[in-house]
Amino acid sequence: MTPCIFCQIVSKEIFSHIIYEDNDFLAFIDIHPISPGHTLVIPKRHYRWVWDVPNTNEYFEITKKIALAQRRAFETDAISIKIVGEEIPHAHIWVFPNPDILQQKKEDVIKRSFKEEINDFEGNKKKIIDNL
Ligand SMILES: [Zn+2]
Repeated sequence: MTPCIFCQIVSKEIFSHIIYEDNDFLAFIDIHPISPGHTLVIPKRHYRWVWDVPNTNEYFEITKKIALAQRRAFETDAISIKIVGEEIPHAHIWVFPNPDILQQKKEDVIKRSFKEEINDFEGNKKKIIDNL
């Protein structure tokens, strides 16, 4: 059986740019970001689906904390979450700045961000952590 990549991130066998960590949850920058600072929030214990995670309130409070930090870090109100879960069989929530849904700061944030900042993992990690 293939080891679960998110479990390996939790155990630090695989490096990730960690934004937030407590006893039960971990948040880190997605390695294939769809926008700068795109973060994954996961339970440390292996659950297949978000709906299997028992402490839902805590899970969403942490997700909200990341979203509010992204708002400040990337200067947009528009932070989206996405819960699908087909690609990695370990519960995860995407949290990502999504200013284009508001047509907000399209020129100066998105274009600049997508071209220059999207793969600045350390920089985007620092921006979010500084705003937690
Ligand atoms: Zn896992």
